[in-house]
Amino acid sequence: MFTTTSKRILNITVMQPKIAKNKHVCVAYLRVSTDDQADNGLSLDYQEEQCKKAAIRDGYTDINIIRDEGKSGTSLQRKGIQEVIELAKNKEISMVYVTHSDRLARNILDHAFLRHTFRSNGVELKYLNGQSSGNDAVSTMADNMFASVNQYHSDNTREKSQEATDKKARDGYWPTHAPVGYLNCENPDKLCEKVAKRIIIPNPKTGQLVTEAFKLYATGQYNTYELNQIMYEKGLVSNVGKKLVESVFTNMLKNRLYLGEIYWRGISVKKGKHEPLIDEDTFNKVQSVSTKHVGGRCRRRKYFWLLNGYVFCPIHNRRFCAEFHLNKSKAYYHCPHRDGCGKYVEKSDLEKQVSDKFKNLQFEPEFVNSIIERVKLIFETRRNDYYAKHRGFLNRKNAYEAKLKTVEDRLIDQTLSKDDYTRIKDEIKAAIAVVDSQINSLAKTKEVNIDTASEILNFTKDIYNVYMRSPEQLQKKFIGFFFERFEVQNGLIIKYRYSPLFEGLIQEKVLFYKTSKPEKALEITADSEVIIDPKLGAYRDSNPN
Ligand SMILES: [Zn+2]
Repeated sequence: MFTTTSKRILNITVMQPKIAKNKHVCVAYLRVSTDDQADNGLSLDYQEEQCKKAAIRDGYTDINIIRDEGKSGTSLQRKGIQEVIELAKNKEISMVYVTHSDRLARNILDHAFLRHTFRSNGVELKYLNGQSSGNDAVSTMADNMFASVNQYHSDNTREKSQEATDKKARDGYWPTHAPVGYLNCENPDKLCEKVAKRIIIPNPKTGQLVTEAFKLYATGQYNTYELNQIMYEKGLVSNVGKKLVESVFTNMLKNRLYLGEIYWRGISVKKGKHEPLIDEDTFNKVQSVSTKHVGGRCRRRKYFWLLNGYVFCPIHNRRFCAEFHLNKSKAYYHCPHRDGCGKYVEKSDLEKQVSDKFKNLQFEPEFVNSIIERVKLIFETRRNDYYAKHRGFLNRKNAYEAKLKTVEDRLIDQTLSKDDYTRIKDEIKAAIAVVDSQINSLAKTKEVNIDTASEILNFTKDIYNVYMRSPEQLQKKFIGFFFERFEVQNGLIIKYRYSPLFEGLIQEKVLFYKTSKPEKALEITADSEVIIDPKLGAYRDSNPN
């Protein structure tokens, strides 16, 4: 019954004056992730019903129901959404209905992409529960905020599951897929603690081959390419039965997990709980052979380059590059022009200058209020919806319990046999258990709703703190949301330009600066930062796009 293909469910032929064929065609886009599926508040049927109602109310006669079932909103690689995009691009539709913006996307870039695709093809977008999706600046702002919040939730969920895996790693258990040579399995010790339920053990087929690969490589007689081929012929394959990709094989030879150690997202445990496949001596020999082979290349530390793509050198009009300076153990951004600009800017320094820019941003109280009003409305709608459903479930439960009482009475009256009584009683008990589980999963949606509301409120109140608290990935999206570029000279941000979206908002006067000193906009000195008064218009260079 659930497919991702569209089907026209209503095709009422009415006499119409000749107009573009798409005018009466709309899409109801429905999505559930695997997590949502058990959840009534998000079921496909519920979404379909809501969207259909709205479409009929708006006078649509041709409604395409497009579903993505069991698909996460974190990517657009979904058959259904791709179909919607196609229909929009071919201008075959004029409206898309979704129950809530998070059905479309759980990340701000995808969300922006969809909006743009719809808008540029004359397709309207309507959310049934939630913010308006009009094209005015305030609605766009609100819409983008919801998109950030949707993403925040997705990131937050990931962080939570990371907490669990981190704990497992700290306790000495490898928390994820077993690398080649090991197998994931249940702990045979049934009384073990919870983190130890799933463990890794040497793979009986490939474990010994991994050991052998280390020993052969340690002789210095082989390069990784040859050795990978030799080991493959001996039967060393990945856990899905394929020959190891070159990089996997090379990384295997560097992986300290085989020594019995655990390295997981910054956590290191010298004595893991799994059985090592290699001794320290062989491992060290392998590392020294490997260093000789690649000419002693140094291992780079990993950094997240928050500002990549946003920082420019105004003299050479080049994007800054990010670099880790080995001698000084510090990370820098710098102008990559061959003559150089002399100065490198320390990563943390420049990133702090950017975060300070967020300090200056504040929303007009009226704007905050309008957002809060919207949030309240959404929240109330959802809460009413929640209580209505909750009541429905309780009524059902009560009805079952009344039924149970009736059959008990009939057993006592002896109008029901003992066997029939047992059968009916079991059926009713099972039905009650189902209702109970529905009530439980409904309670989960309520928590999420409250979180969403409070996140949005926090966001509008104090953008700087939200920015500072966010994980780097999300910070980067905030930067992209507000800013288009920063120009840096002598280590200081001397000019910056807002994103087109944000500039639109400034013109709508929904934002202002805390520092509303009427500075002259483009007066630049080497050591002072320009404060741009939004009333004078943000800085633009000769190429506004
Ligand atoms: Zn330069």
